[in-house]
Amino acid sequence: MIVALAGGVGGARLAVGLAAVLPPQRLTVVVNTGDDFEHLGLSICPDLDTVMYTLAGLNNPALGWGRADETWSFMETLQALGGETWFRLGDRDLAVHVLRTAALARGERLSDITRTLTQRFGIAHAVVPMSDDRVRTVVLTNEGELAFQDYFVRRRCAPAVSGFRFEGAEDAEMPQALRAIVDGDVEAVVVCPSNPFVSIAPMLAVPAIREWLERRTFPVVAVSPIVGGDAVKGPAAKMMRELGVDASASGVARHYGSLVDAWVIDERDASEARAIAALGKRVRVTDTLMTDTAKSAALAEAVLEVAGEASRG
Ligand code: GDP
Ligand code: CA
Repeated sequence: MIVALAGGVGGARLAVGLAAVLPPQRLTVVVNTGDDFEHLGLSICPDLDTVMYTLAGLNNPALGWGRADETWSFMETLQALGGETWFRLGDRDLAVHVLRTAALARGERLSDITRTLTQRFGIAHAVVPMSDDRVRTVVLTNEGELAFQDYFVRRRCAPAVSGFRFEGAEDAEMPQALRAIVDGDVEAVVVCPSNPFVSIAPMLAVPAIREWLERRTFPVVAVSPIVGGDAVKGPAAKMMRELGVDASASGVARHYGSLVDAWVIDERDASEARAIAALGKRVRVTDTLMTDTAKSAALAEAVLEVAGEASRG
């Protein structure tokens, strides 16, 4: 089994590639839930939905969230009636939030709801939330503490960040479905090119996930989310600069430290390879910009090759 750790866009793009080259019984995608929140009475899981819509081929690539074939009657009506519109919810997207909210209210587990939804979207590979327990990312900023979506959507990542808290993470457990997988035969873990601070860090803050990785006998291969010294999308590079981490592929490698054994970095950052190799890491340089499914699949092949090399030592 290959276990991929994914946030939203970057994670979803690599998940598509891995799903194209691995059969369903060989891939599990574990998804960040630190971005989840309750809004207008709905339980919203942005990263799970991005991964689900992208694997189903229904995502909106321009926006990086939501569905491509979307209409906005709900939002327009909400606005006309004076409702809160800072977080956009499309009409089709809304159905997912309503089904999930109702299932959670009946006491169902998020991992079970996610399995049902992904199956109904025709996704054959397993998508599992990092936990069934509530974890909420809080961003520490120069304007005080902000709930993740307040920082990300309402404030458009403008405040300068000084740190993060993952509320509930220390008491959160792995979902049963993930426990069964990690207790089985894991060939490698892939850290997707997702935001290290708000997509991957919340997963590592779940004690069972962190301890599983610390005790590993398999390689961890990561793809750099920094390409050409910048983020492809989102605030990863801005956060790195604000946190005093060098916004480069080697900066990300130093940030993850011993958690990652091998790196796949972009050809635009080829000059970083030497610094990462000096950390004692295997490094592969390739095109990591996943602009279509073929490129996602090619990157997934490279990641699996590096994982194979790393396990042979
Ligand atoms: P979010 O939850 O939607 O913000 O998504 P993630 O945390 O999964 O992804 C954001 C990160 O993905 C950013 O740091 C981007 O630079 C990175 N990213 C997005 N697309 C690509 C890509 O095609 N290649 C690489 N290497 N990184 C990407
Ligand atoms: Ca996210």
